[in-house]
Amino acid sequence: MNIEIAAKLQKRGIILHRVIFVAFLLQRITLQLVYRDLPRKNTIALISFIIICAILEELLSKFHCFNNIWAVRVIRFVQCATCSIMIIFTESTNDSGTMVMSLLLLFVVDMFLVVDVSEKTYCYGIAVALGIVVLLALFVRMTLIGDNKWMFMFFAALLLGAVFICEALAFSDYIKYKDNQVLDERRKFENIVEKNENILNMQNKLRNTNDQLNIQKIDLQRANKQIKEANEEMKVQEEIMRYIASSFDVPKISNQITDSIMNVKKLGFCAVYIKEGVYHNKHSHFVVKTKIGNLEDKIREQMDDIYSHMVDEGAMERIIHDNPGEQLPYLKDVNINSIYIKVLGENDDKYGLFMIGDSRRKLFDDNMSFYNAIIAQYDIAISNVRIYNNMQHMARKDGLTQINNRIYFNELFKETSEKIVADKGCMSVALFDIDKFKNVNDTYGHLAGDEVIKRIASVTEEHIEEHYDGFVCRYGGEEFVAVLPNRDIKEAEPIIQELFEKLCSQIVTYNEFDIPLSVSVGLTAYPEVCDNTEELLKRADWCMYYAKEHGRHQLKVDDGTIVKE
Ligand code: GH3
Ligand code: MG
Ligand code: MG
Repeated sequence: MNIEIAAKLQKRGIILHRVIFVAFLLQRITLQLVYRDLPRKNTIALISFIIICAILEELLSKFHCFNNIWAVRVIRFVQCATCSIMIIFTESTNDSGTMVMSLLLLFVVDMFLVVDVSEKTYCYGIAVALGIVVLLALFVRMTLIGDNKWMFMFFAALLLGAVFICEALAFSDYIKYKDNQVLDERRKFENIVEKNENILNMQNKLRNTNDQLNIQKIDLQRANKQIKEANEEMKVQEEIMRYIASSFDVPKISNQITDSIMNVKKLGFCAVYIKEGVYHNKHSHFVVKTKIGNLEDKIREQMDDIYSHMVDEGAMERIIHDNPGEQLPYLKDVNINSIYIKVLGENDDKYGLFMIGDSRRKLFDDNMSFYNAIIAQYDIAISNVRIYNNMQHMARKDGLTQINNRIYFNELFKETSEKIVADKGCMSVALFDIDKFKNVNDTYGHLAGDEVIKRIASVTEEHIEEHYDGFVCRYGGEEFVAVLPNRDIKEAEPIIQELFEKLCSQIVTYNEFDIPLSVSVGLTAYPEVCDNTEELLKRADWCMYYAKEHGRHQLKVDDGTIVKE
């Protein structure tokens, strides 16, 4: 039994006790008055006992002693023991015995209310202690006072019966208590099962939430990656734009663009091709970036053909996804599965090819905005270079012959001679004049004369600039200068001699007339003949006049003795 509940019951029991005490008192006093032969000492003992019990309970209640379960237990025990002794020592011929028995029963019930029935030892301890007290009292009465044994047997049986009943009650309480405990355990177990189910449900919910969070995380990571890529692409485009705005160097621009694409997109290859003459370039321009061995040469070899083929077909764009090796045989043994080819320029002004490829499949199916933006910028860059080069060409080249004019020649000559003087190098200069050119004009017409001048210019330019790293210019009407940097007069003489022979073997056909050519040439050099570079043109001119005056159609090499007359 719960001890706190027992204590509460005790508190409430005090009121009941008061009523019973008063009832007993009134009954005993009435009996005494009605039956005058009742032993007075019994009445006094009983009334005293009841009054002492009442006062004791009132005092204990006042001082909150009923809050202490042990105090209650002791009181009830003493009360039970006192009642038992009184039963033995009071006479049983009247109802005083019944009264004490009633009180004894009351206190026994009270005592068992405060005994912890879950602890069997308490119950046994109390029963045995009461038994000992009663037996001792009986023993004293029998030996000292002497009474008949029937009386002893009767009270002993009564006491044992009372104890047995209390035990039975306590045991039933104990079983109830155990039942309750089992019920509680089962309820707890059911609660635990329920809680477990709840926990499992929560776990499932958490797992679902976690899965969703993971999906969201992956989505976020993907979005983040895309933002990063877009950022990088924008950065590259910005860099390219800045670069394009500040450079007219096509190879550098092409390198910058292809490098940027390779860095951002990590492609298998990226290539750019521009045909010759687009921006006054004498040769086709190629840039091929790849990390795949041998691929660079293969692409370089094929780009010209691919461009011509696409232009002939009128195709501006080509995306190859399935078996590129079949369509482009040079890619047969290479791990390239996606290719994008774009013709640069538009309509009548197509000028080159942009080509990218990678091992990833269907890579160029969509989202080509980055490449399109880069191609558009490249277009702008090339168009800027073309405009710039055209202007520069117009400023630097002679209108009739398209070789350097005298103004640009002066610039080149100053730059070169300064460098040669600084490097303590050498240079040779040759001056050409067409022989009897007035006669050509007079005989075949001025236009025929122009053709002759053009032929002389192109042959001279090709010979000097392409084969001997020099430069030439149209110095006057039918006069030309050739400069050979870093060549002394011995090296220069055979070169100029070869050119002289080439020029004199030219025949210009005009209006069914074959016009033969002849030139006179003067050759001089720094520092062998001329002390400074400023003398070079003057002395070359002197030598050329010397050649004219000594029969024309010849090369005069300066030996330092020639003086203008
Ligand atoms: P020489 O052998 O002494 O050099 O005789 P030449 O007739 O070549 O010499 P000259 O200086 O008397 O004549 C040069 C001529 O070249 C005069 C001029 O009409 C002509 N000429 C100069 N520039 C041009 C040009 O752009 N086109 C044409 N067709 N003729 C030109
Ligand atoms: Mg002349
Ligand atoms: Mg002449």
